[in-house]
Amino acid sequence: MRIRYLPETLINQIAAGEVVERPSAAVKEMIENALDAGASVIDIDIYNGGKDKIIISDNGCGMSMDDLAASLDRHATSKLPDDDLLNITHLGFRGEALASIASVSRVNIQTHDSISGESWQIACEGGKKDAISPCGHPKGTRIEVKDLFYATPARLKFQKTQRAEYMAVKDIVTRLAMANPRVAFKLTHDGDRKLYLPAVLEGRARLSSILGRDFGENAMDIEAHRENITLTGFASLPTYHRGSAMYQYMFVNGRTVKDKLLHGCIRAAYADVLHRDRHPVVALFLDLPSDEVDVNVHPAKAEVRFRDAQAIRSMIIGSLKQAILDHGNMSATTNTDATMRTFRPLTGSSGPALPLNRGNQRAVPANYYQHHMAESSGNAAFALAPHAKSEDMPDIQEEISEDYPLGAARAQLHENYIVAQTPEGMVIIDQHAAHERLVYERFKAQISENGIEKQGLLTPEIIELSDTQVQELLDHSDTLAKLGLEIEPFGGNAIAVQSVPALLGSKADIKRLIYDLVDEVLDRNTAQTLEECINEILSTMACHGSIRSGRRMNTQEMNALLRQMEQTPLSGQCNHGRPTYISLSLKEIEKLFSRS
Ligand code: ADP
Ligand code: MG
Repeated sequence: MRIRYLPETLINQIAAGEVVERPSAAVKEMIENALDAGASVIDIDIYNGGKDKIIISDNGCGMSMDDLAASLDRHATSKLPDDDLLNITHLGFRGEALASIASVSRVNIQTHDSISGESWQIACEGGKKDAISPCGHPKGTRIEVKDLFYATPARLKFQKTQRAEYMAVKDIVTRLAMANPRVAFKLTHDGDRKLYLPAVLEGRARLSSILGRDFGENAMDIEAHRENITLTGFASLPTYHRGSAMYQYMFVNGRTVKDKLLHGCIRAAYADVLHRDRHPVVALFLDLPSDEVDVNVHPAKAEVRFRDAQAIRSMIIGSLKQAILDHGNMSATTNTDATMRTFRPLTGSSGPALPLNRGNQRAVPANYYQHHMAESSGNAAFALAPHAKSEDMPDIQEEISEDYPLGAARAQLHENYIVAQTPEGMVIIDQHAAHERLVYERFKAQISENGIEKQGLLTPEIIELSDTQVQELLDHSDTLAKLGLEIEPFGGNAIAVQSVPALLGSKADIKRLIYDLVDEVLDRNTAQTLEECINEILSTMACHGSIRSGRRMNTQEMNALLRQMEQTPLSGQCNHGRPTYISLSLKEIEKLFSRS
C-alpha cells in the first residue's frame, strides 16, 4: 500500500469530528466569530436541537468578497496577523471552524462588508463551494447551516436526542452571554423564543438574568489582582447552593473553558462551609497576559493550560475563601424570602388589611418578654406562663444595641429556636446549627494554636465495629490522635477509645461519634488531602460537641451564644451550609401584616 495525500474535503471532515463534534460546538464557533467581528446583537435560531438547521445572525463588520471566499478554506484566518501563537487576541485563531462545518453540512453565508458597503453570498455543500454572488444582505453576517454531518453518516449516527442537543446549545449560548454582557443574545428553538438577553452594562445584571434574580442577590463579589493577573466574578453565599456543580463557570481572557481545576478550587474554598454534596454557583473571569496561558491545547478551545497553574489555583481559592470569610455572618436572602413566602398565605385571608398600630408598639412592658422565656417552668414547648421565680432573678435582659447585630434573646421555641429582637427587626436562630459552627471554629483555632486539647477517659470506651472499619479507623489513628481522639485496637473487631477532644465535654456520645466518623469520613475512597480529611473529622466532631436541639437554655446562655456568633467567622452557616439564622426586618414583618 502506498501513502497518499488525503483530499482537502476529507481532511476537513476529519477535523470536523474534533472541532465541531456536535451542533452546540458549531454554534459556539459561529457565535465566537460574530463576537470577533465586533457584533453587539447576535441571534441564534436552531431547529431540531440544531441537527436540522442553525442560523446565526450578527451585526458585526462583515466580510469582503475575497474574505468570504477564503473564510471557508481551512487554516485561513484574519485573526493571526503576525504568526505569533503566544499573542492571541481573538476568540478564533485556528481558521478551521467554518471549513470544518462546511465540509459536513450545507452552508449558506450572506455578509455585508462594512468597509466597501457591498453584500455577498456564498453556498457550500459537503465542502464544495459555489460561486460568490452579490445579494441584498443589509448588515453584518448571517450564516445558515443545514443538515450538519449529513456528509459523514458515521458521525450522524452518534447524534444525541433533540433535547440533549438543545440543552447543550443553550448551555453554550449562556456561557458566551455571561462573558459578553454588553452583547444582546436571542435564542430560539423550532421558532420558540428560549433566551432573550438584552445588552447590559455589567456582569452581575447579565448573571441575574441568566441564573435568576436570587443569584444576583446572593452573590458575593470576587475581585483579586496579582501581578498582571486579574480575577473577577461572582460566587454564591455558602447558604445558596445547588445539587450539581454544573452552575460553575470559568472564563479565561473572555473564553469559556471547562476546567477541572476550577471545580477543585471551588470545592476546596467551600469545604468548610458546605456539605460535599452541595455546590455553590460561581462565575469567575480570569484575565491574564496571553503568554501566561496556552489556549491552543484543544481543537474546540475548551481547555487551556496555565504557565503557573499553582499560582492561579491559590489565587482562586484564596479570593473565594476571603469572600466567604467577609460574608461569614450573612445568611442568604433566599432564606428570608422563603420565610416571607411561608408566612404570606396567612395574610391572604379575607377581610381588610389592618394597618399596623405603631402607637401600640410600646404598650408591651419591657419585662413582659422576660416572663416568657423558655427557662420558665411549664412543660409546653414554649411556655406562656409568667416565670414563677422571676422576682429572685437578676435582670439579665440584654440591651438592644447596634453593637449586637443578632440582638437580644427573647425566647426559646421548641427547645431549638432562639428568637431575638434586633434594632431593625428580629432573628430566629437555630441553636444547634449555630453552636456547631462555634465548636468547629474553636477546634480550628485550637489546631492552629497548640493542638486540640484532649481529655483522657477514666475507663476506655470499647466500641465494636466490623474488621474493615476497625482497620480503616486504625489507618487514621495518627491523624485522629492529633485531633484529641486516641484509639487503640481492642481484640479482633473492636477499638478502645482512650481520649476525646476536651471540647466535646463529658456527655458526648462517643459511640455515635465513632460510627459517624466511620460512615462519613473514612468510608470515602476519594483522594482527599489531609487538610480536607481533618476538616471533615472536625466537622463531625463539632456536630457531636454542640448543643443538641432539645436542650433548654436560659436567657443568659442564649445571649452568650449570640455574642459568640457575632465574633465567630462564618457564623452565618453551619458546617453543612445550612443557615444558622434567618432575619426579618420590621419592614418585612409589617409587610406581612399590612400587605404594604
Ligand atoms: P477563525 O475564527 O479561527 O479565524 P473560522 O473558520 O471560524 O476561523 O473563520 C474564518 C474567518 O472567517 C475568520 O477569521 C473571519 O475573518 C471570517 N468570519 C467568520 N465568521 C464571521 C462573521 N460572523 N463576521 C465576520 N467575519 C467572519
Ligand atoms: Mg472562528
